[in-house]
Amino acid sequence: MDTLDKMAIDIVEVGPRDGYQGIGPFIPTETKIRLLEQLAAAGLKRIEIGSFVSPSALPQMRDTSEVLAASTRLPGLSPQVLVPSERRGRDAVAAGARQLVFVLSVSEAHNRSNVRRHPLESVAEYERLLAAIPSDITIRLDIATAFDCPFTGRVPEEATLDLLDRLVPLREDAEICLCDTTGRVAPDHVENLFAACMERFPQAAAWAFHGHDTYGLGLANINAAFRQGVRVFDASFGGLGGCPFAPGATGNVATEDVVWMFERMGVATGVDLDALISVARDAAALPGATPGGRVRQALLTRPETCQTGM
Ligand code: ZN
Repeated sequence: MDTLDKMAIDIVEVGPRDGYQGIGPFIPTETKIRLLEQLAAAGLKRIEIGSFVSPSALPQMRDTSEVLAASTRLPGLSPQVLVPSERRGRDAVAAGARQLVFVLSVSEAHNRSNVRRHPLESVAEYERLLAAIPSDITIRLDIATAFDCPFTGRVPEEATLDLLDRLVPLREDAEICLCDTTGRVAPDHVENLFAACMERFPQAAAWAFHGHDTYGLGLANINAAFRQGVRVFDASFGGLGGCPFAPGATGNVATEDVVWMFERMGVATGVDLDALISVARDAAALPGATPGGRVRQALLTRPETCQTGM
């Protein structure tokens, strides 16, 4: 029997956080909620719906509390929110969040630019956050610049492993997401770092990969992580994205491209591609958006393969 038959992956839709934060014009809260409803209806159950950060630094995220409240009412949806500090984490839990994503960077330059702290100060923040919230809150660690830094280039594997040496023992049931913040990593590096991480931290509950398609390697990198045993992948509908603190980083890998690839590999994603394409087109048309990805366009020019043309 083909072992791929029983294979499935989970996609974490991060467009409403990583995608929207790169968009200048404020997306009305009701539009955000409507798009979340459509994403959930397409089968995307894990969605990063926003972040609790300084509204002056990221005004697009200022309505995350309202979006969170609406998303907790959507059946089957499992919303997660990104937080950079203990204080923001407590705010998120007070607003009803049950799944927190704590973000820190391996690279000191990027961490200072992103959250204005040394990475070791972020480790201390993480420890304080864990002590401050109920133990049944689900935790994911987003390790930004795990491979490459927009300011200092390639990040040595040992630097990422050293940071994880400090983080993993603090909460062993945390999901750990290695993030290619710049899109500059190549598949061999993805494979090698995940292999090294899995060997050093066999106790880690789950591994995830977050990639950008800036240099066209998004799907190749996802496949490299998949072959290494990773089963959770971040992606952004319409290929929206780009870190405001990572100059030149464009969109996340498009969710529809990821679904297309895995379904053709016989790996279940649980996502209805036609329904996803429809909402991805809405996302791509948001004022100020810079969409990415290929499958949305490919299906547009081959309407016979997709019934959801617009
Ligand atoms: Zn990103």
